[in-house]
Amino acid sequence: MPATQRNGREGLQMLLKGNPVSGGIAIGKVYLYKAFSCDVHEAYYEKGEKTQKLAEWESAKEAARAELTAIADSFTRDGAADKAKIFTAHIDMLSDEEIDEMVREGIENDCAMPDYAVDKTFAEFIRIMGKVKNPLIAARAADLRDIRNRLIRILHGEPERNLSLLSEQVIVVAHDLLPSDTATIDRSRVIGIITEVGGPTSHSAIIARSYGIPAVLGVPDATKVLCDGALAILDAAEGAVRICPDGETVAAFQAKKAEYDRIQAETAAFLTAESLTKDGVKIDIGVNIGSDQNVEYENCDFVGLFRTEFLFMQNDHLPTEEEQFEAYKRVLEKAGGKPVTLRTLDIGGDKSLPYLELPKEENPFLGKRAIRLCFDLPELFETQIRAALRASVFGKLWIMLPMIGGMEDIRRAKETVVKVKAELDARQIPYDKDVRLGIMIEIPSVALIADLAAGEVDFASLGTNDLCQYTCAADRMNPGVSEYCRSLSPAMLRIMGMAASAFNQAGKPISVCGELGGNPDAAVLLVGLGIRKLSMSASCIAGVKRRLSQITLDQAQKAAAQAVNLPTQEEVLRCASEAGDRN
Ligand code: PEP
Ligand code: MG
Repeated sequence: MPATQRNGREGLQMLLKGNPVSGGIAIGKVYLYKAFSCDVHEAYYEKGEKTQKLAEWESAKEAARAELTAIADSFTRDGAADKAKIFTAHIDMLSDEEIDEMVREGIENDCAMPDYAVDKTFAEFIRIMGKVKNPLIAARAADLRDIRNRLIRILHGEPERNLSLLSEQVIVVAHDLLPSDTATIDRSRVIGIITEVGGPTSHSAIIARSYGIPAVLGVPDATKVLCDGALAILDAAEGAVRICPDGETVAAFQAKKAEYDRIQAETAAFLTAESLTKDGVKIDIGVNIGSDQNVEYENCDFVGLFRTEFLFMQNDHLPTEEEQFEAYKRVLEKAGGKPVTLRTLDIGGDKSLPYLELPKEENPFLGKRAIRLCFDLPELFETQIRAALRASVFGKLWIMLPMIGGMEDIRRAKETVVKVKAELDARQIPYDKDVRLGIMIEIPSVALIADLAAGEVDFASLGTNDLCQYTCAADRMNPGVSEYCRSLSPAMLRIMGMAASAFNQAGKPISVCGELGGNPDAAVLLVGLGIRKLSMSASCIAGVKRRLSQITLDQAQKAAAQAVNLPTQEEVLRCASEAGDRN
């Protein structure tokens, strides 16, 4: 139960606890975010209400048009013409006479309630669209679904909730944020994130960190206890949320925030520095990205993880080969010759695609995820590899395969790459012959045979988020078991150390691209274990460079050698934080 305390002036103060996943302090109004669930029942109105029901339909259309115009205008103002176009197309569809006629007929002739008439009409159009072979036309079914949901929401009297269209700075409170919600989040107005589920390596946490938005996840009942518009303080260092704080508490946290911002500003000075240990050993710093937007490549040496699934999640259809090619080309060009590690599609687990029907699984994180799904959908996999290879001539491409469990998976994926290359050769389509092919080490079964894997691939990257989830048998999304997800346990250090040694011995690069790579103290131990490449969210780069400048290689190695023999994670953390000289 949350702790409460009566506050004479402002109401009931409360303290909620959760997982601190992205540092910082936010003080602001709560914005309750709930994705609309389009629940419609077959229902009919009483005789004599026809005029009123027809009027409800007319005003719902008007309200939808007004909302859509506001969205399109705001995108146009922000220079996002592409996005604006989607919504002007929705306005056009809203004026479709056939749709209007069918809805009116349902209301007038069958006495259907307006929401039911809308649902029935759109279901018919969506069905017809869905059958069309041309993917561009089929994709319009997703637009129709969007318009239907908007109309039904308006008819149900529910306000619009959209994280990309906020009028003021807010702390977003949600049960969970889907990657598709966070992909379009308004970064200038969302000053904090609170969710009921999710741990430090869930995707909402990763996004929050990459955007530098303070976040506390796994706060039980947050959406029930926090109400829209209430004042809240989110302290992401402490993992605490204070609701309806009194003036004194607000003042105290304003001071704490000022101090936090001061330290951040001091650390920011390291952002542009070269990443060297105190004794001058170069550690390559990579950045993890989800798209080509808002990425500054100047402060890093490579792109250690390009999560291509974001391109798929931001779309309402499977991106075509051409769309993928353009997106990959943009990233490669912007990276200006620095290696770009493009990870092939990692869907499944907590990431789904609205337009791709996948069988329901009891344990999706242990199911058909990432490369396993790609094996089931060879056309999708080949299209992505083809798009990536074609784009490779515009930069330095490394292709990375996620969720590799053993040599079988490596060989099977390689067959696809070989096949696609042969096709491109036959069609005389150019691609870079030096594209490297590597794997994520995020399943213990492949970490344990890292020496064999190193003989078969060009490089590897430790996906510490999943490696921890699968090594510790603790769901990365379940806040109830986050204490068991011990990413810096001696067991994790040993398994990572094993993989690092195997690849180092084979003379093949190995990096870390999971969230541990962006944790300054963990970086010390990883360097000590033999890792020379760390990739992270952009917001972590300055902190890691600063910490690395405080240790010598010898100190890092000694700390790592000591840490692997410590009994608990707590002791490992202490050992890491004490290494070198903090300044
Ligand atoms: C990981 O598992 O560590 C990783 C980088 O991949 P993701 O977080 O996207 O699963
Ligand atoms: Mg992973």
